[in-house]
Amino acid sequence: MNKKKSERLPPTQSVLKKLFAYSGNLCAMPDCKNPLIHKTGTMNGKVAHIHAAEKGGARYDATMSDEDRRALANLFVVCAICHDVVDDPNNEAQYPAEKLKIYKKKHEDRFRKAELQFIENYADLTQLSKPTFPKTLRRMSKLLALPEVLNSPDEIDGISEFVQKLAELPLEQRKFALRIAERMKRRNVDSLPTDDVLHAFGIGTSKLKKQMELIEHHNLGSIDEDNMPGKYLVHLWKRGHGGNPWIEIIDFCERSGDDPDQFIVDLDFSLYDKSAD
Ligand SMILES: [Zn+2]
Repeated sequence: MNKKKSERLPPTQSVLKKLFAYSGNLCAMPDCKNPLIHKTGTMNGKVAHIHAAEKGGARYDATMSDEDRRALANLFVVCAICHDVVDDPNNEAQYPAEKLKIYKKKHEDRFRKAELQFIENYADLTQLSKPTFPKTLRRMSKLLALPEVLNSPDEIDGISEFVQKLAELPLEQRKFALRIAERMKRRNVDSLPTDDVLHAFGIGTSKLKKQMELIEHHNLGSIDEDNMPGKYLVHLWKRGHGGNPWIEIIDFCERSGDDPDQFIVDLDFSLYDKSAD
């Protein structure tokens, strides 16, 4: 009998969808924060093999079938830079299969639940991520009675930085952060004890941790230790120059009658410019 020649098979569409769904749109390598799909829509992610698809590749395992090699369990998604590093057989000692399996599992577990929506929204992802940046802040200046923000480069840059970060954050966590901001605003504070958030939102510690991990990963908030040992506080990212951009959206929409979703879902920050008449 002829032994079938090993053939490099591409991952199937359904495996690809799952891989990206569980990726959080972030490179799976620890300490790398590169997005897989850049906010401009450019694909920066590459599928890496734990055990190479072909003989001669990194961590090639002769006992596996070609189907095993292209299965979900053998693949993970990383940025283009990390891909070339882990794919290089010369780096095999530094990146053994067991280590990569742990990286894959840790990364995917973290995003698996939070990003179920990503599967449904996969096709819309690039659309969702195309923000409109503010240019003048004319309407914001008028409605919030802040004459100093009009045409201020610092304010415009600060809000634009926020929009860019927001564009990378999945929808569920954008909405979660906005709810936290609403509560902060009502109480006129800029942090909330974790106990308070758990109670107010009726969620468990692991759910809060998961949401905040994503928010923290995108540098839009954090859980920090309070002065009292064992007590923790939820913070949201503040602009270097101005205030809390989440609360700004709420303040603004209360006065303008706009839907906050136009900001956090549609990312239309030109609403801060448009004339208020
Ligand atoms: Zn990377």
